[in-house]
Amino acid sequence: MIGVPKPFPSIWVTWLARLMADEIHCHWAIWFRTRYNYEKLISGFDLAKWNASHQDLLRSRVADLETEGYAVFLEGENWFEIAGRSFLVKVSGKPDIVAMVGDQGFVEDCKTGRRKHSDFYQVLIYLLLLPFSHPRYRKLSLAGRLIYPTEVIEIQAAQVNEDFKAQFRSAIAILNNTTPARKVPSLHECRFCDIPFQYCPERVENRLDEDLENHDLF
Ligand code: SF4
Repeated sequence: MIGVPKPFPSIWVTWLARLMADEIHCHWAIWFRTRYNYEKLISGFDLAKWNASHQDLLRSRVADLETEGYAVFLEGENWFEIAGRSFLVKVSGKPDIVAMVGDQGFVEDCKTGRRKHSDFYQVLIYLLLLPFSHPRYRKLSLAGRLIYPTEVIEIQAAQVNEDFKAQFRSAIAILNNTTPARKVPSLHECRFCDIPFQYCPERVENRLDEDLENHDLF
């Protein structure tokens, strides 16, 4: 079974960040999400708990920024969707915070889970796209920050260089291609994937039962 094709392929910045950070080897999963609507598997992930701790961190960060005199814009206020001009795909994002003082802006994302390379890519993609999203961000001098519970990591806009832009376009090209991307089934990735068996018959649900200790190699 195949899903229902989206009227216009669309991708979230978070998926792109994982692809660019090489944290997901089954590119087909992201290719499929970009191009099709489908019934998602219910994940065992405790979304309510994640939301609560994310909101706590966000609220505390906003309070600090407002005390320091920043104008702060949150989540839905920062939502954007940008259509490609060379690629038939839209990229959507929703930065947690954009804080402004004068013509200086900071795009910030709050992270409560374990640190990942994709956190860094996510903020870099925001730095790349935000100036093309909302008019109030067009003339800002932007920098990024990752907000962890015990540390703030600064990210400079200069890191959005030509190499990064080329990597971004390569990732978009994979998802824009009408030829499906490579599928790499593995228990490690399939167990966190929300694409059910009816769309992906190669889905790996269980470990192989074979007796893997039946050898004398080491
Ligand atoms: S279930 Fe596994 S093989 Fe299928 S798309 Fe998801 S990660 Fe890839």
